[in-house]
Amino acid sequence: MAFTLVIHGGAGNITPAIMNKEQEKQYEIGLKDALNSGYKVLSGGGTAMEAVVAAICILEDNPIFNAGKGAVFTKKGLNEMDAAVMDGSNLAAGAIAGVRNIKNPIKLAQEVMLHSGHVFLSGNGAAEFAFSRGFEFTPDDYFFNKSRYDQWVEIRDSDFYQLDHKEDNLKGTVPNTELPQNISNSKFGTVGAAACDEYGNLAAGTSTGGMTNKRFGRIGDSPVIGAGTYANNKTCAISCTGHGEYFLRAVVAYDVSCLMEYKNLSLQDACKIVIKDKLVKLGGEGGLIAVDANGNFDFCFNSAGMYRGMRNSKGDEFVAFYK
Ligand code: ASP
Repeated sequence: MAFTLVIHGGAGNITPAIMNKEQEKQYEIGLKDALNSGYKVLSGGGTAMEAVVAAICILEDNPIFNAGKGAVFTKKGLNEMDAAVMDGSNLAAGAIAGVRNIKNPIKLAQEVMLHSGHVFLSGNGAAEFAFSRGFEFTPDDYFFNKSRYDQWVEIRDSDFYQLDHKEDNLKGTVPNTELPQNISNSKFGTVGAAACDEYGNLAAGTSTGGMTNKRFGRIGDSPVIGAGTYANNKTCAISCTGHGEYFLRAVVAYDVSCLMEYKNLSLQDACKIVIKDKLVKLGGEGGLIAVDANGNFDFCFNSAGMYRGMRNSKGDEFVAFYK
């Protein structure tokens, strides 16, 4: 049977104008490394869940992405990470929010799914669980990244918070209007993966540092099952990226699944309605990656670009950044 893996490294103001050749190369390599890691799992008979976690670990370890090592800074100058996984074969899910000092948050989300008896752990409780399961404490230095730090310093005394790869800043209320422009020129992002394995099972995962200068305790859409992450063998597996407050309110990932389940829409039609119509009307910027149980895939975004890639058993493979 066929298999398919899709990944993303964030959506936002990603245009040729803000990228030089060297940066394009770095993203291309970063995305390909992650695709190769997930592909190796799938081609070796591994499951969609194993491939999703393997691909996301590579992205978390790469500081150009806003997850794990490259996580952005909060209002308090800390790195607080969110992550989730969902297994479409049995609707099992695991998520963590506001976690610090864990090298690979996606592995902790998987551990929560497998061994906590719960779905969602946050903050100190998630950390306590992690250390009780043998996860190592990773010092703050590991997560320090000069460009992310500078990005935070520019807005830390304001009430603004910022999508990692967006030039405008977002006020801490929605909808946001009349915001200062061009405070930052960053171009890094949240990461995610979705896969369909040779057994026809689906899985999805998302991992993020959230948004620069986010409030202490702020949780975005990424770890919220149904908002930023969702998988169901009957419909699709989805990982989202973008302005989390809107993705939460629009329950984006589950909405796509519902359109497929209850209205019989195709994967592409369902993604288009949610991202290009419903989310736009609400004012939300971002996108998603998706696969269905037939190996169909979609990349759908309403922002200028999205770091993304695909590799499947037919030998198709690509990475792309722009529209
Ligand atoms: N969705 C993430 C959040 O709001 C941010 C991102 O996708 O870059 O936390």
